[in-house]
Amino acid sequence: MTRLEGKVALVTGAASGIGHESAILFAANGAKVACVDTVKERNVATAAAITSAGGSAISLVADVSKAGDMDRVVATTVEEYGALHVAFNNAGIMHPDDGNAVDTEESIWDLTMGVNAKGVFFGCKYEIPAMLASGGGSIINTASFVAVMGSATSQIAYTASKGAVQALTRELAIVHARQNIRVNSLCPGPLRTDLLMNFLDTTEKKDRRLVHIPMGRFGEASEMAEAALWLASNESSYVTGTDLMVDGGLSAAYVTPEA
Ligand code: NAD
Repeated sequence: MTRLEGKVALVTGAASGIGHESAILFAANGAKVACVDTVKERNVATAAAITSAGGSAISLVADVSKAGDMDRVVATTVEEYGALHVAFNNAGIMHPDDGNAVDTEESIWDLTMGVNAKGVFFGCKYEIPAMLASGGGSIINTASFVAVMGSATSQIAYTASKGAVQALTRELAIVHARQNIRVNSLCPGPLRTDLLMNFLDTTEKKDRRLVHIPMGRFGEASEMAEAALWLASNESSYVTGTDLMVDGGLSAAYVTPEA
């Protein structure tokens, strides 16, 4: 498997879920990977899993919502590996106190937008110059199915943040289309990762979500990693400015099939 041979990739949120699976899959496909997360121990574990399998990875602790942190991790990646070709801006949060517009506190809005939207902006801000200096590359920003569909189970700040990711992705794709930089968003459906399982903390809440998924199951982080790998690799060379829905059919459904 050498779909990313010779490439240098930076993955945020690499300590868990989609980012963890993607960092490992990118490395298994030949990429040198900078793993970025706020959680040191699990991030180090992701990098260690890569190196013990014979790949190349570094662990960088950083908060994507801080400009200085993203500036530093991009610079360190280029110092260590000499280039940047793939950036997966994937780190995100879903706060338990995020609800409808009436009940959600301003602090929850600011926190969520800070990580999910501004974190992607800061990623792109520092990754794009590094990619231009490397001859081009592929940026993948993690949005969500909620960027295209309204939900009665409201998480207003989270939903707005993912809409922002989708919109900025589209614009950057156009701005950099002739500079050999592709920019796409990955829109996962509901996944069986810590993020959603902690939020849907009862069987009743999980079932309420599951009923909307035509495939009748939550997605796996590994299934998102496969989609991210395709967007990262040259196999998607004519794809830019798109939202790749990987959602078990959720966004296509009017009614779901009988169980
Ligand atoms: P996860 O909680 O398993 O992993 C997210 C990782 O991001 C964690 O390791 C966390 O430490 C890291 N992180 C959080 N804030 C950070 C910050 N400020 N700086 C650096 N790292 C930070 O979640 P996941 O399910 O793998 O989610 C990854 C992405 O997918 C998120 O953007 C999420 O919104 C999106 N997404 C998830 C689902 C789902 O159902 N799980 C659905 C759609 C979109």
